[in-house]
Amino acid sequence: MQILNYINGTLQPAKNQQWLANIEPATGQVYSELPDSDASDVNDAITAAENAFDSWAKLPSEKRSAILLRIADLIDRDAEFLAQAESKDQGKPVKLAASVDIPRASANMRFFATAAMHFASESHHSADAINYTTRTPLGVVACISPWNLPLYLFTWKIAPALAIGCTVVAKPSELTPMTAFLFSKLCMEAGLPAGVLNIVHGLGQKVGQAMVEHPAIPAVSFTGGTATGKQIAATAAPMFKKLSLELGGKNPNIVFADCDFDQAVSTSVLSSFSNQGEICLCGSRIFVERKIYDRFVAAFVEKTKSLPVGDPQDEKTKVGAINSAGHFQKILNYIELAKKEGGEIVCGGRAIKILGRCEGGYFIEPTVILGLPNTCRTNQEEIFGPVVSIMPFDTEEEAISLANGTLYGLAATLWTENLKKAHRVAGNLKTGIVWINCWLLRDLRTPFGGTKQSGVGREGGWEALRFFTEPKNICVKL
Ligand code: NAD
Repeated sequence: MQILNYINGTLQPAKNQQWLANIEPATGQVYSELPDSDASDVNDAITAAENAFDSWAKLPSEKRSAILLRIADLIDRDAEFLAQAESKDQGKPVKLAASVDIPRASANMRFFATAAMHFASESHHSADAINYTTRTPLGVVACISPWNLPLYLFTWKIAPALAIGCTVVAKPSELTPMTAFLFSKLCMEAGLPAGVLNIVHGLGQKVGQAMVEHPAIPAVSFTGGTATGKQIAATAAPMFKKLSLELGGKNPNIVFADCDFDQAVSTSVLSSFSNQGEICLCGSRIFVERKIYDRFVAAFVEKTKSLPVGDPQDEKTKVGAINSAGHFQKILNYIELAKKEGGEIVCGGRAIKILGRCEGGYFIEPTVILGLPNTCRTNQEEIFGPVVSIMPFDTEEEAISLANGTLYGLAATLWTENLKKAHRVAGNLKTGIVWINCWLLRDLRTPFGGTKQSGVGREGGWEALRFFTEPKNICVKL
């Protein structure tokens, strides 16, 4: 099967006719190919988006909204098919794709399609003047997304851009291009005008870099690794482009002794191993108050051992395949590093062979490590796999200091039944998001993003709509 670029309303191969292999992570087999596009395809996409911009931006927001809502409805219509496709392409359990990824993709489209109709700008009145601010769509913007939540994060970026009147050149990850390709067909079916959304497939260093470098692109919305984010920032900064960078994390999960123990254990298992630990929000460093440390570790390990690892197509599977051979090896290397650093592997720690169809797939047992200091590389660097480290703490101050003790600052989770303590600790955590007694409970209106090396800017709600607009203040003397 061939995945095609979506440029100026048509599906087409790369101009150079080159292809990249697309591998199913659960089997290790090539099952489709995608265009190995380059700067000339990006240029075509940008020209198409420039030509489409004026009429799309001038369309009343209700009309743009109606088209985006149609796309959302088509995602819902094809939800089962899209979930199967996402699972095959990414390696995640089909049940997860069906219950989280695909419903969230249509929710993203619906949310921003309607939000844009309520978007407003500000005015500032004084005795001698009225200032009013207009917010107009930026123009052609670049949206670049990663492989862990493919359609979920792809739509999370393009929906606000399109809803507010920008035209878009988008690049999904070369490791998970399938659902973005299927999405382009839905856009055609929904009647999205040609050139409004263009999807160029291919490698980050070629296609992504060409998008970021292009002088006609005033803004880049990027989700991916911190190293790539740095490269994008270095390219874009001298051109004064607007950037939204959603990057890596090394998220703390703090469990106080006065928590609802069963809830803390079961949600912590989810926040550690959902999507094979390949969610930027997964809590990979678990800090447990010493009073309940042994009990927590025992319950956590017992639950972890019961997680079924296997064929993502199997409805019973909770932990599927790691997304790529390269990432699989990277995670195994980190497990070896953890051992060298003195860590004790109390659960998992190895690659698994799944017999039958998935013999060549990339599977790793959910892994729990004890006995490492917070400062070691295993606890400082993002592993982005089914690997967690559990550490004890004695005081609230110590927990805060350990949690904040990384270069990252994306999300934190904390567990306590003491309301004052919960607010106090949340206020002191240097992260963009804090979940108290829950995890990944999302309201799409809230600001989403990280501090420090987890990124710059926020997505979600008005933040995303503002990002894709240029404010202009107009002052009228009274
Ligand atoms: P990645 O940085 O390797 O790739 C992300 C995207 O950028 C891909 O589409 C890739 O092709 C493209 N790219 C690569 N080089 C580029 C360049 N020079 N210019 C422009 N684009 C380029 O990240 P990944 O491995 O796909 O994703 C995993 C990372 O994403 C993890 O670090 C994870 O924490 C992070 N992530 C962050 C969030 C968040 O919201 N903060 C969400 C999901 C994933």
